[in-house]
Amino acid sequence: MTEAWRPDGEDERRGAMGPVKVRVPAKVNLHLGVGPLRRDGYHELNTVYHAISIYDELTARRGDTLTLTMEGEGTGELALDDSNLVMRAAHALAGYAGVLPHARLHLRKQIPLAGGLAGGSADAAATLVACDALWGTGLTRDELAGIAADLGSDVPFLIHGGTALGTGRGEAVSPVLARPTSWYWVVAIADGGLSTPAAYRELDRLREAGTAGPPLGATDALLAALRQRDPRVLAATLGNDLQDAALAMRPALAETLKAGEAAGALAGLVSGSGPTCVFLAENGARAERIAAELTAAEVCREVRVAHGPVAGARIV
Ligand code: ATP
Repeated sequence: MTEAWRPDGEDERRGAMGPVKVRVPAKVNLHLGVGPLRRDGYHELNTVYHAISIYDELTARRGDTLTLTMEGEGTGELALDDSNLVMRAAHALAGYAGVLPHARLHLRKQIPLAGGLAGGSADAAATLVACDALWGTGLTRDELAGIAADLGSDVPFLIHGGTALGTGRGEAVSPVLARPTSWYWVVAIADGGLSTPAAYRELDRLREAGTAGPPLGATDALLAALRQRDPRVLAATLGNDLQDAALAMRPALAETLKAGEAAGALAGLVSGSGPTCVFLAENGARAERIAAELTAAEVCREVRVAHGPVAGARIV
């Protein structure tokens, strides 16, 4: 149960008495165009983000200090100290709002670690929304997005959710207006993760050696496809400039992509920096059948079915 912020309350009575539970989705990039390396060390991106129905859940309760516990994906592997994006987000919000960062936070993780699904960024977005409600700091969406951008390029999108265009290093997000359509995805989760910075370095190396594919360029075709309801049209426009790098680092992903397409997916691609692969299906029933075949093919650790677009970090 959460209580609304009480404008007539005393400072310590502001915000929720707790607990505040926030659900946040994973993202895939329907188009990930990687431009040149900027002087600040980031690449210029031209991307279309899409939030899908694989969720982490963050619960925030009142506490006398800041603590983090977790269960699910990555438990025992992921540090729960100040290096965790949840802790960094809580400190960043408290610093901005001028409140003490006191909360007991618990993370239930279903998004795999270093999977190319932006799980860490999702957790940071969830923390901002949860602590804003718990502490009654009442920040605007724009203020939250500003703090989010400092935490990571994908964090502003995960507050937004839906389908959105990302520019700059990905942090400048504007919603894509599309017909209300659900798209069905089969998500193949690999064993172990891939480092995002290493994938960008590998792409730079491939480009320097002249062995990378041609860059994707503009998002126009994909945006036009999103305005139609035909998954076959969308399938033809999906693309990821980081895919060659992910395949170079993890050649076995080629087998995963082949198996998904053989199972009837309209298209398959590496999600973000990988190693998760996502497959577009014609509809929900078809997605279930593809998922069953992929599972039987034993080309990944786990297969899940998801749909998108879904909302960003929201109190539930
Ligand atoms: P992206 O798609 O945004 O590049 P990713 O999905 O490949 O990200 P994440 O799971 O977001 O990868 O995390 C990458 C790294 O961030 C992890 O290996 C871990 O060291 C660090 N990290 C810090 N906090 C978290 C968190 N709460 N969840 C996951 N990773 C975290």
